[in-house]
Amino acid sequence: MFQKILIANRGEIALRVLRACRELGITTVAVHSEADTEAKYVKLADESVCIGPAASAASYLNVPAIISAAEVTDAEAIHPGYGFLSENADFAERVESSGFVFIGPRPETIRLMGDKVSAKDAMRAAGVPVVPGSEGALTDDPKETVKTARAIGYPVIVKAAGGGGGRGMRVVHTEAALLNAVNTTRSEALAAFGNDSVYLEKFLENPRHIEIQVLADAQRNAIHLWERDCSMQRRHQKILEEAPAPGIPERIIARVGERCAEACKRINYRGAGTFEFLFENGEFYFIEMNTRIQVEHPVTEQFTGIDLVREQIRIAAGEKLDYRQRDIPRNGHAIECRINAEDPFKFTPSPGRITAYHPPGGPGIRVDSHVYQGYTVPPHYDSMIAKVIAYGANREQALRRMRTALSEMIVEGIKTNIPLHQELLQDARFIAGGTSIHYLEQRMAGKK
Ligand code: ADP
Repeated sequence: MFQKILIANRGEIALRVLRACRELGITTVAVHSEADTEAKYVKLADESVCIGPAASAASYLNVPAIISAAEVTDAEAIHPGYGFLSENADFAERVESSGFVFIGPRPETIRLMGDKVSAKDAMRAAGVPVVPGSEGALTDDPKETVKTARAIGYPVIVKAAGGGGGRGMRVVHTEAALLNAVNTTRSEALAAFGNDSVYLEKFLENPRHIEIQVLADAQRNAIHLWERDCSMQRRHQKILEEAPAPGIPERIIARVGERCAEACKRINYRGAGTFEFLFENGEFYFIEMNTRIQVEHPVTEQFTGIDLVREQIRIAAGEKLDYRQRDIPRNGHAIECRINAEDPFKFTPSPGRITAYHPPGGPGIRVDSHVYQGYTVPPHYDSMIAKVIAYGANREQALRRMRTALSEMIVEGIKTNIPLHQELLQDARFIAGGTSIHYLEQRMAGKK
């Protein structure tokens, strides 16, 4: 096992990784920007290194500074968390060529799955169901593109192979709008991702977002840890996640989960990962794979009882998976609310000093957060300040516990989206379960 790990991230995930290291008896190095000097994980870490000014490009994305920090502190491995450099294959390569262990998949796997066209091809070959669409990237031939779209059937969605974060996508309803949309997406993709390769997919009108968590070790053992339902989204940003997915039978999840575990073996996957699917009319359609730990991982940890960050670290150290597929329970129900520093209904960011902070507690409640009373939420980064996770014997109990938790949670001095979550937790359609990815936006637009 490692003696010392450098955590190349900030916020709640830096604290989460630090806690996993402590439990495993591993010393930690926190790297931070000038804006994060007062952060809790920086204070708690055994060592800390300032890697640059507030702007992410100069600090959390500053590869040479992070590698030097690992060198001067004698760290053996680097945990990238999520966001920032976590899915950057060049970074993973630099980490390994500098003699450190990257806690995540091999660089070539990150590269394969980071390109949506090659990812879809690999999944199709592995027998994972994918969204119907063009075979690979579109050519320059407009006639061919028109033909492909007709074969798929409208509406279609034009997507950039290098896209991410909900960018580089355009829905097309009619043939008249097709070529224009393809060309615009191409030039936007070239500017944003340095890659003008685009492809077509059938646009699913009312899907749910269901994802499968996997773990794979370097010895080619792979398991799935069931699903998460992340359909409650605004502008492709998840705000509330839960597991199991309401109303989807276990055998259906088991079938797609087994395909995902098989795919991991085929692509020689290593570490924790997530296969994201759209789910409509009883069918799964793969859209992309995230080759890292995700924000919503605690949902899975609470309902399977498995510590995913601990497993990531063990796997990176070359240890074998501790679990077989049949050891993974699907018990009870977990819900996560992402608490953001923002106006609950206008969504404008609300950074600033937290003058009062009282996190909730009680049976089945977990709070992952790096903030404290007197902490100032910096304006430079993501607005998420906490994740509240409620676990219950069933969905009803998890919902009750979450309502109680949010009613006791106090965050003063800044605005948070707690009131939005409280409304959703009383919403009849959400309580019934199984709402689509459009539900939240439609509800806010007053249509529901
Ligand atoms: P990103 O990497 O930018 O997150 P994804 O491929 O994961 O891109 O897609 C993000 C979101 O866009 C999905 O969660 C879904 O809401 C929507 N989306 C993507 N592909 C389709 C599709 N074929 N049909 C309908 N919605 C889609």
